[in-house]
Amino acid sequence: AAAAARSKDRADRATVEQVLDPRTRMVLFKMLNRGVFSEINGCVSTGKEANVYHASAPEGAELAIKVYKTAILVFRDRDRYVVGDSRFQRYCKSNPRKMVKMWAEKEMRNLARLHATGIPCPKPLQLRMHVLVMEFLGEGGVAAPRLKDAGLPPARMRQAYTEMVIMIRQLYQKCRLVHADLSEYNILVHNNELHCIDVSQAVELDHPRAFDFLREDCQHVNDFFRRAGVATLTVRELFDFAVDPSFGAEGPELDAQLDRLMELAASRPATLTAEQEVADRVFAQAYIPKKLDDVINYERDHARLKAGTDTEGIYYQALAGMKEDMSGARSMPAQQPASSGAAS
Ligand code: ADP
Ligand code: MG
Repeated sequence: AAAAARSKDRADRATVEQVLDPRTRMVLFKMLNRGVFSEINGCVSTGKEANVYHASAPEGAELAIKVYKTAILVFRDRDRYVVGDSRFQRYCKSNPRKMVKMWAEKEMRNLARLHATGIPCPKPLQLRMHVLVMEFLGEGGVAAPRLKDAGLPPARMRQAYTEMVIMIRQLYQKCRLVHADLSEYNILVHNNELHCIDVSQAVELDHPRAFDFLREDCQHVNDFFRRAGVATLTVRELFDFAVDPSFGAEGPELDAQLDRLMELAASRPATLTAEQEVADRVFAQAYIPKKLDDVINYERDHARLKAGTDTEGIYYQALAGMKEDMSGARSMPAQQPASSGAAS
């Protein structure tokens, strides 16, 4: 009986949490009056930090409205994304309303960047305080499935991995962003195309932890696809592909590089080899220097790279566009098969 009462209590609280606070109601009311939308039809998602609603525009287009929650507690663990982001110096921890408004603003700006560079994502439309109106991905009020739930057949899943690899590189090279919460939960499969969502925590490349976040993103993406039976790259190979400055973000050079990588992945078993597993574990622990100034012990590393024996833990060649032995700038992509003379 006590358990039943507890669960009823929890259900009541959940219901109460769905009720919009007066500020949110006021923002929505004004948007309604300005004709941003004509009707809110229902809730698509209730998350820890935001709720997403489905709405209709007066001309009938479908909209998604993301309402950030103003409760301060849920945003506490977001500090790691904000500390060090040059765009958000005025981050105000003491004022939860300002903070939540900032997250909504960050999402709006990041979505605009993605949209401008042609990375599939919901088009951002309107921002008012902590309420963001964007294009709805889905149809007839039904949201497009998350990659996790899309049930893609094996061949399409393999293709989706390639699309994800490209998306990570384009986010980095074209948007100069690291998503920082990239996974099968924040990709929607809409019109048979992967769409990137939930970018409020995405960071600029000059964020002190940008490379850590990128490495985590690569890890999460690889983990998902490997569980789905796709033969993947190692985390380091994916990371290096994302950051390598020696080829563009699109065009024949990129395609050639990508083909070579995907052939490499496909030549491997779908489950990690012991060797790959070790490589991933080492890379997960490795210190990735932020700037070349941070490269300590250059001489020792240089000797190790030259000898070509023990190079684990040295991860700045691809970032800096250097040859493997650090003897100068590379003119070719880093990920040539060793036999073809990458450092020539
Ligand atoms: P959070 O994970 O912070 O709660 P998300 O931005 O990931 O917020 O959105 C939560 C869920 O809402 C998504 O998994 C998706 O199902 C739905 N959603 C978000 N944005 C859209 C959109 N533009 N169109 C359709 N559904 C969306
Ligand atoms: Mg999400």
